[in-house]
Amino acid sequence: MNEPAIQFPVVCPECALESPFQLPIAVIAQALLTGKSIRLHASCHDQYWTATFIEREQLRRTLRTMNIEAPHPVSTISSPARKVESAGANP
Ligand SMILES: [Zn+2]
Repeated sequence: MNEPAIQFPVVCPECALESPFQLPIAVIAQALLTGKSIRLHASCHDQYWTATFIEREQLRRTLRTMNIEAPHPVSTISSPARKVESAGANP
């Protein structure tokens, strides 16, 4: 299984402990687009619940960030930050 997934912290409804949770990007994107509910899971208490509005917004933001970072063949933006590796290191 080579599906791209993202990991994000979820808060257990039972003990309020934060634990990492992983979901395939495709599942999240699909749920956000179609308005479907997203099932979250906390491993500490084996609790399943539906993502709240806030949690969905968090995921939406995470996905947006990933879209920016994902390598894209279309290079419309030339990176302004040039590498400054050899900045006067030579004696
Ligand atoms: Zn718990």
